Amino acid sequence: MPVLGSSLGNVSVLRLDTLSDLAPGNKSFKLQPYVDQVLHERARLSTSGGTVEHRLISFGGVWSNHLHALAALGHANGIATLGVVRGDSPQETGAAESAMLADARHWGMELIYVSRSDYRQRNEAEYQQALTERYAPAILIPEGGASMPGARACAAIAQLISQSNTVARSIVLPVGTGTTLAGIAASLPAEFEVIGISALKGAADLEERVEAMLRALDAQQHASWRILHDHHCGGFARSSSGLQEFVHAFEKSQGFELDPVYTAKMMLAIQEMQVSGKWDAKTPRIAVHTGGLQGRRGVSWL
Ligand SMILES: *Cc1c(COP(=O)(O)O)cnc(C)c1O
Repeated sequence: MPVLGSSLGNVSVLRLDTLSDLAPGNKSFKLQPYVDQVLHERARLSTSGGTVEHRLISFGGVWSNHLHALAALGHANGIATLGVVRGDSPQETGAAESAMLADARHWGMELIYVSRSDYRQRNEAEYQQALTERYAPAILIPEGGASMPGARACAAIAQLISQSNTVARSIVLPVGTGTTLAGIAASLPAEFEVIGISALKGAADLEERVEAMLRALDAQQHASWRILHDHHCGGFARSSSGLQEFVHAFEKSQGFELDPVYTAKMMLAIQEMQVSGKWDAKTPRIAVHTGGLQGRRGVSWL
């Protein structure tokens, strides 16, 4: 298992994107506790007989890395999964199904399509209760795996960093919900700094959410952390011509791929910070490649 792969100056890359065949990246880490919960239940049921095990339900868009990873883990472990997808059913509209949804269906995930207004209720208790009752017995996983079990499970990523025996004390990673950042920061000692590059435009409550997760994780000590908000390249799932040029050049020179939503923006941010002189290029850093490469299939410029 290559942990520290190619290097960009003094930046080493922790390649979570190469860790497994099906859906590698940070989403698999965040989902693992839910998989473990069902597997424990399965072991219990096999000795006691009795009821059927829980299925795993979550939410996402038609290119969701999270739903993709959930479907893959369900498939690999024989766990039933259900994806609540934002948008119209391709069967109904006749539009082409995304490659992500085709994979998920192929892996046995049941898919239901909901309107944008229904989807907006995904974090509301009443909506969630209706879903878990309708598809009972079911465990509901928040969108993106943004949960305390998910954050806790990212300790395993911090462990990969520690095991790499690196001199680097500066960790850079892309941020969506901040769950991965919180989990990693909580599991590294105070001499580390963790710098998140937000993939979203104007995610003003991100710091607050990370702080709340860190409090809940109750670590004795944790790494210092901060989030940079000016590297979203136009907003979530958007790109600039500068980003596109950068990705093409990066992939040619480095020999591995980036995903357009998260890791590309992180790598570009590192380059911009170094070129502008805000960051010393000599400082050893670890950039976490959080995966998401399946999403490349939906991007015309790649
Ligand atoms: C979801 C995702 C992230 C963001 O993770 P959070 O824990 O939500 O901050 C980063 N990179 C990739 C490739 C992702 O799929």
